[in-house]
Amino acid sequence: MTHSPPAPSGSLRVVVDLNRCQAYAQCCFFAPDVFKLHGPEALWYDPQPSAAQREHVLRAAAACPVQAIFVEWSKAATRKIAEAPHEQL
Ligand code: SF4
Repeated sequence: MTHSPPAPSGSLRVVVDLNRCQAYAQCCFFAPDVFKLHGPEALWYDPQPSAAQREHVLRAAAACPVQAIFVEWSKAATRKIAEAPHEQL
């Protein structure tokens, strides 16, 4: 019998420190539905992506060379903040 991981739940919020962002586009590679570069320097991102994007967003945050991406998600009354850029996923 195989077990699949639990489906992501709770709301997801993303904040990018645009003063820190250097437009390296690593996040765009790991979560292309959430992060997009417009032109050479302008980063667009979805601040409230679906919970299904959580793994992609966490990988994007871990890959950001200047640690500009902050991810927060809530499940009921519990809130977690992911700021561990080198967290094993
Ligand atoms: S990986 Fe980091 S520095 Fe590069 S575009 Fe994304 S947020 Fe900006």
